Amino acid sequence: MLEDMVPPDRVTQCMIRTVLENLSAVDGKILREALADREAWGHKTLAKALTQRGLPLGEHMIRRRRSEPCAGCVCRVV
Ligand SMILES: [Zn+2]
Repeated sequence: MLEDMVPPDRVTQCMIRTVLENLSAVDGKILREALADREAWGHKTLAKALTQRGLPLGEHMIRRRRSEPCAGCVCRVV
């Protein structure tokens, strides 16, 4: 009866995950690649490009998630 009982996922607030969940597979892939490519995409450059396209990811959010991704989250790109 209880075979499928598992603890619920611990949900961490993560804007990158929220944004990624709302993107198409193609856009999500592009964003994850951009997040991983720190040389081509500085925190500020990436934040600006995303904001211009209507995605609310600020420089500080990107910087924080790049240095400290949440456990088991899609924002962990490397
Ligand atoms: Zn995350």
